Amino acid sequence: MSEHRGIWVYSENRDLILELLGKGSELASKLHTRLTAVMLGHDVKDQAKELVGYGAQKVIVVDNQQLQEFQVEPYLSALTQLTHEHKPELLLIGSTKRGKELAARLAARLNVGCVPGCQELKTDDQGRLVAERIVYGGNAIVTQVFRMKPQIVTVPRRRFEKLEYNAESQGEVIDESELQLEPAKTEIVEVKPVETVETKIEEARVVIGGGRGFDKKEDFKILDELAQILGGQVGYTRPLAEDRKWFKEWVGLSGHAISPELYIACGISGVIQHVAGIRDSKVIVAINKDP
Ligand SMILES: Cc1cc2nc3c(=O)[nH]c(=O)nc-3n(C[C@H](O)[C@H](O)[C@H](O)COP(=O)(O)OP(=O)(O)OC[C@H]3O[C@@H](n4cnc5c(N)ncnc54)[C@H](O)[C@@H]3O)c2cc1C
Repeated sequence: MSEHRGIWVYSENRDLILELLGKGSELASKLHTRLTAVMLGHDVKDQAKELVGYGAQKVIVVDNQQLQEFQVEPYLSALTQLTHEHKPELLLIGSTKRGKELAARLAARLNVGCVPGCQELKTDDQGRLVAERIVYGGNAIVTQVFRMKPQIVTVPRRRFEKLEYNAESQGEVIDESELQLEPAKTEIVEVKPVETVETKIEEARVVIGGGRGFDKKEDFKILDELAQILGGQVGYTRPLAEDRKWFKEWVGLSGHAISPELYIACGISGVIQHVAGIRDSKVIVAINKDP
């Protein structure tokens, strides 16, 4: 029998780690095992209690100045050491840019598999974890099981629901801040925020997409108005930016990947390169004269 036990969740993104705890709780009860949240950072100890309220039975905290800014080597070294020491059977890692980088490197260090961008996670009759992800730009779903443990998956935003906060929940907090971390191989010289008035389109809960169905740039004001009413943002297909030069950015395979609650595609045909960037949307509505 494998010595690996327990489900771990990790993400530097607060909303995502809460969603991972939601899914992790369900899997932990099916697999009759415990759910642990991992917190890496500096001055993060106070946040452990919140994770307990959202379902973590245990929280492992590594609070270290080296983890103040994200640098992959110290983060990876913390996760690798913790995994060697505690031997979880499954790690759910938030599928952010950082999370994907960490998950892939962790899998390489441990010489185990990694399934990125899981859309669904379930267990089969034999109690194996079954991971599903979308491939070929959204045209196929691949189902994967693991041959060895720990099993590492990454999970995008808004796939799973967080649990209701319960202030009465009790959980154990394990302080692993004494770990010796590998130093970063690069140095951050400056971090400068990009000047922007809006939230990033990746974070928007509602996105209204506009495509070549629009003949005039001025007509986009209807989409701007709708976005304002719904508290969302407007996104575009690539031809509007690249060919017509109306906008600077677009959504899709070569542009922004979004995961809103609601995506309204107006005058967009749904070509594979566009769909690749919107497939994580929860609900997609198309307004198109072509049924
Ligand atoms: C390497 C590569 C990468 C790419 N990356 C991206 C990417 O990241 N993002 C991206 O978007 N594209 C990308 N593309 C381009 C992509 O292939 C498509 O050309 C593009 O997505 C199509 O944009 P569209 O839907 O606006 O236009 P079209 O495909 O021309 O669709 C227009 C739609 O509007 C509808 N329409 C027309 N008039 C009306 C009306 N009056 N009312 C309602 N509907 C109407 C039509 O029925 C049609 O469905 C990429 C292409 C390549 C080769």
